[in-house]
Amino acid sequence: MVFTAFVSAAGATTRVAATRRQSLCAQRRTAPRWTAAAGSGPTVTTDDKTEVAQYFNGTGFSRWAKIYSQSTDVNVVQADIRRGHAETVDTVLEWLGDEGAGVSVLDAGCGVGSLSHPLATRGLQVHGVDISAAMVAEAEARAVEGSGVSFSVGDLDAISRGAEVVCCVDVLIHYTSGDAVLMIQRLATLARRRLVLSFAPSTPWLDLLKKIGALFPGASKATRAYLHREDVIRKAVEEAGFSVRRSKLCKTSFYFSTSLDCVRDEEQ
Ligand code: SAH
Repeated sequence: MVFTAFVSAAGATTRVAATRRQSLCAQRRTAPRWTAAAGSGPTVTTDDKTEVAQYFNGTGFSRWAKIYSQSTDVNVVQADIRRGHAETVDTVLEWLGDEGAGVSVLDAGCGVGSLSHPLATRGLQVHGVDISAAMVAEAEARAVEGSGVSFSVGDLDAISRGAEVVCCVDVLIHYTSGDAVLMIQRLATLARRRLVLSFAPSTPWLDLLKKIGALFPGASKATRAYLHREDVIRKAVEEAGFSVRRSKLCKTSFYFSTSLDCVRDEEQ
């Protein structure tokens, strides 16, 4: 997902000025805020999480459910983001083309099921979890009958049931790099053999674009968007016992997201 002019033009925000201030503060934090959940390792408990859940149950739901659909009621920026996101989903679908029917997949932060549905239609055993009840309801409404896909409302930090393959697409953008690292650690405990994730990469040029986008006076609201350094994300993946097999940056004018296909080291 993304985020330059998208902040104003796609009209998806939360208090732009405050957002920028908070975002800078968040980046200055030396340690992420987390607590240890009994027996399950560190858990992110940031304000971002509350805000993200509220956003995707409210204004964010109507915006993103539309972007992640075939609706013609989208503006130029939203249509551009839709194209970029579709490219990311297609990339992940292509990568997972070597997974046979019956393989269990956990789609963490599944949204309206843009990835879950085509995977389930192929015969994979897919369960999607999302922190937003509205997104989950929409995912359920879009389910193809007989595909066996299931969904539940929940925080990915609290999921206890693992799967052979865990996907987490365009979710880490909502969290600081410190929190994203904790989430990767958590996702790695759930992924028995393969982990596919995407994040908005931080490069000098994309950082600048994001700053320019944040200057646009948005009448509406956007969630905070955090770009992550690829080396930080890769290190987290590797320290969690996975190796990056391939990566791909999908980029349009208003969308940029890098996907990583990672396999558990003992599976290599
Ligand atoms: N992965 C989907 C949706 C991306 S939008 C796709 O690519 O189509 C980001 C989604 O992540 C939103 O639906 C949001 O509600 C969800 N999300 C954000 N933080 C989450 C968390 N901590 N646990 C579960 N879902 C989360």
